Formats: sequence, C-alpha cells, structure tokens
Amino acid sequence: MNDMPAHTRRPGWGPDPTPGEAPGRHDPSPAPAATPVRARAGQRGPTLRRPEDLARAGLIAADRVPALEAVAARYAVAITPAMAELIDPVAENDPIARQFVPDVAELNIRPEELADPIGDDVHAVAPGLIHRYPDRVLLKLAQVCAVYCRFCFRRENVGPDAASLPPAALAAALDYIAAHAEIWEVIVSGGDPLVASPRRLAELMKALGGIGHVRVARFHTRVPVVTPERVTDDLVAALKADGVTTWVAIHANHPRELTAAARTALARLADAGIPLVSQTVLLAGVNDDAETLGALMRGFVECRVKPYYLHHGDLAPGTGHFRTTIDKGQALMRALRGHYSGLCQPSYVLDIPGGHGKVPVGPCYRHDDRIDDWQGGRHAYRDAPTET
Ligand code: SF4
Repeated sequence: MNDMPAHTRRPGWGPDPTPGEAPGRHDPSPAPAATPVRARAGQRGPTLRRPEDLARAGLIAADRVPALEAVAARYAVAITPAMAELIDPVAENDPIARQFVPDVAELNIRPEELADPIGDDVHAVAPGLIHRYPDRVLLKLAQVCAVYCRFCFRRENVGPDAASLPPAALAAALDYIAAHAEIWEVIVSGGDPLVASPRRLAELMKALGGIGHVRVARFHTRVPVVTPERVTDDLVAALKADGVTTWVAIHANHPRELTAAARTALARLADAGIPLVSQTVLLAGVNDDAETLGALMRGFVECRVKPYYLHHGDLAPGTGHFRTTIDKGQALMRALRGHYSGLCQPSYVLDIPGGHGKVPVGPCYRHDDRIDDWQGGRHAYRDAPTET
C-alpha cells in the first residue's frame, strides 16, 4: 500500500474545463461564502472540493469539517454541481451523498484491503497500459475524474493533481498496441477519460483507428451522469473515428443519478450511433436492495444503455463500509431475474484480487441434474441426449 495518496504528491494537471465552469477551479483560495446548493437552483457553482466547501453548500454540518479534512487529505474530493443538487442534505442516509461526501469511515483501513485491489500493476506493460486479457488492453488516459467516488477501486492513484499520461508515454502505449496484433479492443479508462478535451480524444481515436487490428475502443466514464454538460456535440464527434467502433460504458449506481440532463447526454451519445453499456458497483446503503437496483437497470434500458456489469465491491482501502457479501449480491441478482425484463439483467462480477481477472460470481441456477426457475422451483433436466 502506498504510504501517501498519489494526488497529494504529483504535479498538477486537472481536467479540461467543463463547459460553463471557469478554468482554474483547483485554485486553493477560499471559495466565496455559498448558500445551500438547493437554494441556488439554476445558479450552478463550481465543483466542491473541500470539506469547508461542502459545509458552505449545506451538504454537511460545519462541525464535521475538521474530521473530514483528514479524509480529504488522503483521498480526493469532488462533487459536481449536478451531483450536489441531487443530494438531499436533510436525509440521514442519502444514497447520492453516500457516494460522494467523504466519511471518517474511509480512514478505517482493513487488513484485507489493498492499494491495488484488482492487480493492475501485475499486468502493466507500459506506463498507463494494462494487458490483463489476451485480446484487449486498458489504457489509463488520465488519473483525473469529474467526481471522486468514496468507494473508488483506484482511489490511491486518482485525484485532481494526478498527472495525465504524458505524450511520450501515450506514444509508447500506442506503439505497444500496434506491435501486438492480438489486441482487438482498447478500453480507455483512468480516472475518467471523458474529462479530456475533445481535441485530445479525437487525436487518440485517430491513432487507434490507424492500427488495423484494433477494431473497438471502449470508454468507461461517469461524465454523462455526473457532469452531463460536458457531453457536447464536439465531444461526441471526437469519440468517433474511421477504422474503429466506439462503445461507451456508463457508470451509475442509483436511479436518481439518471436525471433529465443525464438522459439528454446519454441520448446524444446513442443518437450518434454509439452503443452504450452500463457498469454499477454494488454498494451497501446505496443500491443493495432489489427495488433500487431494478429501478436503476430499468433506467439504463430506457436510456438505451444495456446493463452490463454489476461489480462486487473491490478491496479498496477504507471502503469496507460499502461492501456487501457475495451471498447478498447473488440474492439480489435472483430477485432481478424474472421480475425485471431480460434486458435489465447485468452480469454480477468480481475482480479477483491479485490481478487474476474478472469472473461472474453467480448465482448459479444449475444443481447437477436440476435447474432452478426464477421463482425458486427446482426441475429435473437431462443435459445429454437420451440413448435410443
Ligand atoms: S469516476 Fe471512476 S475512477 Fe473516478 S473516482 Fe469514481 S470510480 Fe474512481
């Protein structure tokens, strides 16, 4: 485990300015006194980055600021206006607040938790490039995000001061990809790759489109949900290039995140012919009940986002208060099956610690020569032709 989070020690590089938000918002000078976010409807402020900003915005009580400063010193904080407006500051366990507002529980690091919980480092083949599976690589374009999720599995490395992939390192990563003909897909992640400017994204896509064996570029992002104003026509155009098919995986964890603005941003991507899939992290106190999970999956499908992954929580440091058991995850998946459309069924997956990859973790409906139905009935099934 790193002794100090990366975002406290790296030279500055933030996301490109969000449309409507002035550059230089990482300036540490005190923000002007703010009225509670909910009282400022229609008047969007900056992204909230410090506990005192959260207190001024009415998202936490002022007496929590000193304790949360210690959390913020270790793990980056950012709450975009879109997410700040969604938080109900009066609710005791608001699921949006739980995802983005720091908590002193994050300083409780359990023995089983790991700085690199899914074993990225084991498969790093170049700076910013992970080659874990035969036909695809993961390219970490930037370690910066629009928001910082309190359960993030790469929380030791992401932050507003983390470095983007330097041009020479990006060139080296592209050289590696070009030299490995087995690479069919490039998964562009980070951080959040859609904090990069349309110009940078277009350059990347042009480069990938020029590598004959790379047929698919898949972007993993929270941007269309947490800062939908970034999904401009320019950004959508930048994601498309000749020679490579673009997919976008959308990260959201609660149905309330699919606001009207988020739905508009997702429609902009879908209308451009970009296929969309979802990823959700199973989070205690956020979405660990069938009704919430089902509503989220239905919301995705309504937005033309095919539910893809439900991730079991990774062993990221200070995130034990978010993790459920796999038994609970399997029970939730059983509750979705049959009660919600087949389109609403994600795969429930675990990234095996140590870099052993992602596998589905059930539930399993087969028991030797019997098969469960969605209502729990068990039926005989002969899995081989009868000799005649
Ligand atoms: S957007 Fe993704 S990479 Fe960034 S903090 Fe959230 S989970 Fe981590």
